[in-house]
Amino acid sequence: MISANDPKLTSWVNVPDHSDFPIQNLPFGIFKTPQMDARVGVAIGEHVLDLKALHVLGYLENLPFTLDDLSSNTLNPIIHRGKVATRELRNRVSKLLSSDIPDLRDKEHHVKQALLPMGDCEMLLPVEIGDYTDFYSSIEHATNVGKMFRDPANALLPNWKHIPVGYHGRSSSIVVSGTPIHRPKGQMLPADADAPVFGPCKLLDFELEMAFITYPGKPMGDSIGTSEAENYIFGMVLFNDWSARDIQKWEYVPLGPFLGKNFASSVSAWVVTLDALEPYKVAGPAQDPPVLSYLEYDGNRNYDINLEVGIQPEGNDETVICRSNFKYMYWNMSQQLAHHTVNGCNIRGGDMMASGTISGKDETSYGSMLELSWKGTKPLKLSNGEERKFINDNDEVIMRGHATNGDIRIGFGEVRSKLLPTR
Ligand code: CA
Repeated sequence: MISANDPKLTSWVNVPDHSDFPIQNLPFGIFKTPQMDARVGVAIGEHVLDLKALHVLGYLENLPFTLDDLSSNTLNPIIHRGKVATRELRNRVSKLLSSDIPDLRDKEHHVKQALLPMGDCEMLLPVEIGDYTDFYSSIEHATNVGKMFRDPANALLPNWKHIPVGYHGRSSSIVVSGTPIHRPKGQMLPADADAPVFGPCKLLDFELEMAFITYPGKPMGDSIGTSEAENYIFGMVLFNDWSARDIQKWEYVPLGPFLGKNFASSVSAWVVTLDALEPYKVAGPAQDPPVLSYLEYDGNRNYDINLEVGIQPEGNDETVICRSNFKYMYWNMSQQLAHHTVNGCNIRGGDMMASGTISGKDETSYGSMLELSWKGTKPLKLSNGEERKFINDNDEVIMRGHATNGDIRIGFGEVRSKLLPTR
């Protein structure tokens, strides 16, 4: 077992019940305050531990991290040190925060310097994302979309159960939780029209996804097998793949998503390490027909992570409209990474790969408005009495996620973004 995951550990920092950030989590992020430049932090309860300060104070000696690594405005420098190094760093932070270990606990002036109330910190995009890939790995989502837009009797395309289908997206427009999004404009073909029109998207949707962030991979030409894939994954975030359904519908043939997707994607600020999620591995769905040998894998590779989506109209309460789980994914992350690199495509530290919309079997577990409102034919009721088929201007969309054993909760915080009118 990874020592920092010991369920018996407690911290001298107060961690409220139901906090996403107990000592068994210790996710990494980038924060700044009005007084301090951006730097690397770790979440604990309702506080942020400043790793730059810890380094300056001498608490991170004999670890392969420089002061520059921890003073960076991205996590890329620590990611580039590799899995052994980041695991040692998390283990060291775990020790320093542990109730039993007095080193930091009893040095009040050091605690004052290194431990900041989360409310005083502004979280930044955690990683400078090199390449971004989006998969399409939920069988329920792919089936729902196939039923709506193609043939209900043959909803899945013939390749779907053989290939973790994906496309290369755009990293420049991936933003951190709290960043507002503007409704995009574009070309659409209205129903019954024979020529396209230009204007604001009318069918603006979210997609509930999770994304993993990679360590540096192998040289171009080499492949990463499923047995080693998890050694190349640093951690995970919540991912909202904003989607303009009307723009997407008109443009996607034959090369797939383009302007209907690349105007914005939103991620949560704290990167939960794959190490912290290790105790929450579960078996994935049976894969039938059998996959080709390079996609075979051993052991449990799915993760039991509860997910939910809420909509909050301006000045109103939030209504949770979807409850799903990352464990439903047909293709797991090891298979996605093995497939991505099987042709010799090289990945780099800080690349981001999203899961695809995470839908379950139940209608309340569908991970997009497209499915929840079934193309707008079944509007959802919000707690304020309003209805939604898609997302309205000034709505906030909130996604949350956590793994739990009933006692410990390994949470992701949230990705919350407001949709502003077209600019
Ligand atoms: Ca997507």
